[in-house]
Amino acid sequence: MQKSRGKSTRARPIPRKSSGAGAEAALQDATQRALRYLRGLPGRRVFPGATEVQRLQALDGPVPESGADASQVIQLLDEAGSPATVASAGGRYFGFVVGGALPAALGANWLAGAWNQNAGLFTLSPVAARLEEIALRWSRELLGLPAGSEGAFVTGATMANFTGLAAARHAVLAAAGWNVEEQGLAGSPPITLVVGDEIHVSVLKAISMLGLGRGRVVRVPVDRQGRMRTDGLPEATGPTIVCLQAGNVNTGAFDPVSEIAPKAKAHGAWVHIDGAFGLWANVAPSRRRLMEGIALADSWATDGHKWLNVPYDNGLVFVRNPADLRAAMSSDPAAYLVTSDHREPSHFAPEMSRRARGVEMWAAIRALGRTGIAELVERTCQLASYFGDQLRGAGFDVLNDVVLNQVLVSFGDDETNSRVISAVQADGTCWCGGTRWQGRSAMRISVSSWATTKEDVDRSLRAIRRIAGDARHHR
Ligand SMILES: *Cc1c(COP(=O)(O)O)cnc(C)c1O
Repeated sequence: MQKSRGKSTRARPIPRKSSGAGAEAALQDATQRALRYLRGLPGRRVFPGATEVQRLQALDGPVPESGADASQVIQLLDEAGSPATVASAGGRYFGFVVGGALPAALGANWLAGAWNQNAGLFTLSPVAARLEEIALRWSRELLGLPAGSEGAFVTGATMANFTGLAAARHAVLAAAGWNVEEQGLAGSPPITLVVGDEIHVSVLKAISMLGLGRGRVVRVPVDRQGRMRTDGLPEATGPTIVCLQAGNVNTGAFDPVSEIAPKAKAHGAWVHIDGAFGLWANVAPSRRRLMEGIALADSWATDGHKWLNVPYDNGLVFVRNPADLRAAMSSDPAAYLVTSDHREPSHFAPEMSRRARGVEMWAAIRALGRTGIAELVERTCQLASYFGDQLRGAGFDVLNDVVLNQVLVSFGDDETNSRVISAVQADGTCWCGGTRWQGRSAMRISVSSWATTKEDVDRSLRAIRRIAGDARHHR
């Protein structure tokens, strides 16, 4: 506290502005507004209108000189912000690969917000540290990954890919007698990175952030579904990392891991799997065959915020050999030798201070159980198949084998597709994105939300058929 110069007046503490009662009223109000928002989801357009986006201006302005009551801030946020949201928490959002938020996981998120725990160290939050341990173990078992693997919570699959590949970089260089954490990459033995031609951009981003050079990757040709072709694998010697994919973002296809992983490992390569949504197929008996060989890998990246419907942001990484993850994420070169009574979350993750993501993951798994997760995966896959069948039946081209929850549909030439996709998005009944698949444009449908019902799909199909029908007549 500052003293006014030259005077002997004693500094008096500035009273806290928000009284206890006022704070509680504001939080009650926020809860009521959130519930009203959720109730309104089925009846509103999925992408906000231009007017709603324009009204976000009300949140801007110069730095506020004087403050406002918490309740006024929440009111402004709800009135100007809520209408400009994308209704991806509802049942008719099929863009990218986006999950909703399970009620138990959302409630856990609210409670964890009130807790405001720092999940970096056990000492900072025993509950966060324990819930992360439990949720990691549960997830690892549900995904069918090796029992001894170590894991970490991160923001999403991009950072999970980054973290898994950091462990890979550590291990393949350590095997060549190089300590990358101490010595850096300058002068190190070169690493060969083998990826499929349909690699997700987030893996390339991770590779670039790790200093491994996304322009240096060896791209292996893929088949019509985007799966890496086994006969295209290069003969690599020296430090090598092979990045495979479980769930292509367009087709849902899995690389033939059971064929490639043993070969790669026989040559001493590290096998990393990007399974942002696909790994959850392991929980559903009818999809488990896709997972063959997945457990042979050395590291795995996945998301909680996609198919498991945990609120943003929530990603998971697992590494077969805990020491590799520990060495890559350690801030102290010798720290991994020191035994502690507790598992310290920040010894396995890129961040030190961070929020307690294990809380929501724990709540989601606790609420659904294995059978509930299986049901979620099976149901969304069935709805995707239904989407595909209905669109094919209406005379449109479904470009992929619908093996999972992803559907690619083409309504004609590139221009027709882009007109239909824009019109579907503007119509507001549902939201689907555009993509390119092996030289053709397409509309992409991802069924990833617990909230999606058959009625949501039927309503969306009616809108898509009407819009695409109109586009045909206007050709
Ligand atoms: C979504 C996705 C990613 C990136 O995940 P984020 O959670 O957005 O970081 C990586 N790989 C695949 C296959 C994905 O579908």
